[in-house]
Amino acid sequence: MADPLDDPGLAASLDRVRAAAGDYLASLGGRPVQDVAALKMLEELDGVLPDTGPGAEAVIERLLRIGTATATASSGPRFFHFVTGGVTPAALAADWTASLLDQNSFSRVSSPFAHEVETVAIAWLRDLFNLPASWGGALVASATFANFTSLSCATHWWAGKHGVDVARDGLTGLPRMPVLSGGYVHASARKALQMLGHGRDSVEVYAADAVGRADLPAIGRRLAEIDGPAVLIANAGEVNAGDFDPIAELAGLAEEHGAWLHVDGAFGLFAALSPRTDHLVRGIERADSIAADGHKWLNVPYESGFALIKEPARLGAAFGMPGAPYLPGPGDPNSGFALLGPESSRRARSLPIWASLAAYGRDGYRAMVERHLDLAQYLGRKIDEAPELERLADVQLSIVCFRAVGDDALNRALGAAIIADGRVYAGTTVYGGQVALRPAIVNWRTTEADIDFFVDVVRQLTASTRSSPGPGPA
Ligand SMILES: *Cc1c(COP(=O)(O)O)cnc(C)c1O
Repeated sequence: MADPLDDPGLAASLDRVRAAAGDYLASLGGRPVQDVAALKMLEELDGVLPDTGPGAEAVIERLLRIGTATATASSGPRFFHFVTGGVTPAALAADWTASLLDQNSFSRVSSPFAHEVETVAIAWLRDLFNLPASWGGALVASATFANFTSLSCATHWWAGKHGVDVARDGLTGLPRMPVLSGGYVHASARKALQMLGHGRDSVEVYAADAVGRADLPAIGRRLAEIDGPAVLIANAGEVNAGDFDPIAELAGLAEEHGAWLHVDGAFGLFAALSPRTDHLVRGIERADSIAADGHKWLNVPYESGFALIKEPARLGAAFGMPGAPYLPGPGDPNSGFALLGPESSRRARSLPIWASLAAYGRDGYRAMVERHLDLAQYLGRKIDEAPELERLADVQLSIVCFRAVGDDALNRALGAAIIADGRVYAGTTVYGGQVALRPAIVNWRTTEADIDFFVDVVRQLTASTRSSPGPGPA
């Protein structure tokens, strides 16, 4: 088939996707996270670019056959690696709708519908986290981009204090922007600083101990010494054990010294949803910017992150594109989100956010978060009861940091064995100098039975790794 105009296979292709979806979603509860043996099918994707293709239906049939067999079930209930949410029913159907309608959320003119859904979605996110109505935001691809968006606004603010419009003139001639943090700062905040031209090593880290708790007196002394505008990064939810920087204390320091406070709350921001954990994010409304993820605890599909900004006008200052006559300028009523964030043309990623918040509401999300808090406590108790496992940190949120009793080599081998086995996924880290596992529970599908299964697999693999340690890391 040479031209899509001649392709009769559209309806049949969509029917195939719908049929495969039913089977795949039904399998998620019980399938291994990774069918390791199926991965050889990936070779079938290779080949030369065809001159003449068979059209949609045959190709979609092939894509679904390979994809449903080899996919990593990261949207299923037994994927505890990284911090990985699933996809709620409303979010999945809305995401299909976003592809169906293929709106460009560039401006009001390119899609009044997408513009309105995005406006409401941002307002609902702001309300979900109990932030004042004066706050604004941007929907972006990820928390990395949310950190980038927030730190772009911070950069614009900081350069303005030096009398420079950095959006127009760049960093030339400015001193290095001071960026301070405790030891929990995430690699993606460093990546954002790297993309912004500050350099990832511009972060000055003040940690009070080996796990990285913020050294508040040292941060205060340094801010006093800088005696000018600076940027402070707080972490609401650190990836190894789910700990939090003391946001209110850091906000106090930022206010005292006139610094910009940015909070990376990729998943930890969701602590605000439960009275059991909202003390962990006390003071976030005193921040200047907050970064978070939709594709983690909100349980919407990739790619979904958001930045919430105390003074929304800063988004336009940092991301406006004046001077293109065919585009609406800043302040034009036909303008839109392309001028308020890093991307220009962009898909309607607001649809799954809007739909999932509309479908489950504040109470639904609170119930899900609290279920995950309970599951994390349950996992913590099961670790404590297993004589060959030891927990390394209190369970404050939904991450449980533990290791097999033994040395780092054993724990590295255990981490590799879990991935090679594929029934469940969890990743290793280094926590306070020790190699550890750090399962994170943020998927709406996960139940106690999945936690039981996880612990059974870890105990089996601990025993087998201990009896034949293997070659170890290269
Ligand atoms: C996951 C995470 C990020 C980066 O998120 P992406 O969505 O992968 O870009 C940033 N900060 C923290 C604390 C995270 O947990």
